[in-house]
Amino acid sequence: MTDTLATPTKTAEIVQERRIVTAIPGPKSVALQERRLAVVPVGVSSALPVYIERAHGAIVIDVDGNQFIDLGAGIGVMTIGHTDEAVISAASAQLGAFTHVMFTITPYESYVRVAELLAEHTPGDFAKKTVLLNSGAEAVENAVKIARKYTGRTGVAVLDHAYHGRTNLTMAMTFKSMPYKLGFGPFASDVHHAPNSYPFRDGLSGADAAARTIAYLEKAVGASDLACLVVEPIQGEGGFVVPADGYLPALQEWCTANGIVFIADEIQSGMARTGAYFASEHFGVVPDMVLSAKGIAGGLPIAGVTGRAEIMDASHPGGLGGTFAGNPVAASAAIAVFDSIESRGLLAEGARIERALKPALLALQQKYDVIGDVRGIGAMLAIELVRPGTTEPNPTAVSAITAFAAQHGVLLLNAGTWGNVIRFLPSLAISDALLAEAIGVLDDALASLES
Ligand SMILES: *Cc1c(COP(=O)(O)O)cnc(C)c1O
Repeated sequence: MTDTLATPTKTAEIVQERRIVTAIPGPKSVALQERRLAVVPVGVSSALPVYIERAHGAIVIDVDGNQFIDLGAGIGVMTIGHTDEAVISAASAQLGAFTHVMFTITPYESYVRVAELLAEHTPGDFAKKTVLLNSGAEAVENAVKIARKYTGRTGVAVLDHAYHGRTNLTMAMTFKSMPYKLGFGPFASDVHHAPNSYPFRDGLSGADAAARTIAYLEKAVGASDLACLVVEPIQGEGGFVVPADGYLPALQEWCTANGIVFIADEIQSGMARTGAYFASEHFGVVPDMVLSAKGIAGGLPIAGVTGRAEIMDASHPGGLGGTFAGNPVAASAAIAVFDSIESRGLLAEGARIERALKPALLALQQKYDVIGDVRGIGAMLAIELVRPGTTEPNPTAVSAITAFAAQHGVLLLNAGTWGNVIRFLPSLAISDALLAEAIGVLDDALASLES
């Protein structure tokens, strides 16, 4: 038994437990890091230079045999859990059939099936169509392309603290300069950043925050010049900012009244992470377009733009596509993810994780005044850290806590414009016991700040 633990040969043999057996990083990781620094540019950095060998469920295991509780899930990609059996078998079967023919030359069924599933599970009871791409940023780019073609307008509105990607257009749409934009310009034009709703920092009601956003866009741009407004229903990199009640519906109403395509970037918040297929459902909005990527295919790269059929059909034939876009192996994995959400009742798991984690985080807030805010929905929760007694951002505490947690076998991710948020976005496969154990480590980390 112990031998199996030391050298699991199959991922399914990885016991769901935390186990630290070397210094972090261990000697093998240190050696790999040296090789990496010689050949990989520093611009590609890693939060924790621990090299991963295997993973299963909510546990990742490094080359030195350390096992970590993964509360980041590769930024919300492994929603279904690492090395999920259904995903592996669907992708493996497709690998043996064909790996590429290119949908825009000779099509195949799995692409069509993913489009059917997205039409069925995105909000809204109307005809929808989907174009598949490779990455989240590529989905955002295509959504803007289509909205421009449909409206005949060029303006793109986004919100403060948004994150939409690292390509040229999506850098322009992303809020935070460092590290995403600094020195990488010039950026695409006609992109307009408007104030968002950030209840912890602005104290505004949804109606007042929406009035502020709309007033800004009407004064600074003019509604009739806007092709689209792109919003994350819960902001991801921006710090899991949940807008005040009524904010998103008011924006949607304004978009509809002014012929502006209302686009929900659900790349981080979608695919069952919040206990609904898409987080838009929690806020009572039905976007004209929904963007999905991260969690959609159990770690394989695929992304979708799903929207009202009449909008999606605005592009002429040949206007949309890409060599690897809608890759059949990734598409098969996506179908397995959708099937698993249904057959294993995974929508309920987001709510279970919220029930296990949120009261524990609120209890820690009572205990430690460095926690200014606890927020989020389902398996998309966060704490915002401040200088005690103020709302001044406290990124130093976040760095100390994530470093402490890594040393103790818990992978925690930061977020936020000021880097002062810790986000919890574990896989839906994580047990209540592992969550409780991770909370214990977080408690110790918070206590260590004070000593
Ligand atoms: C990650 C992310 C993107 C970009 O996706 P990539 O696959 O990294 O290009 C865009 N929008 C949101 C909300 C994201 O979280």
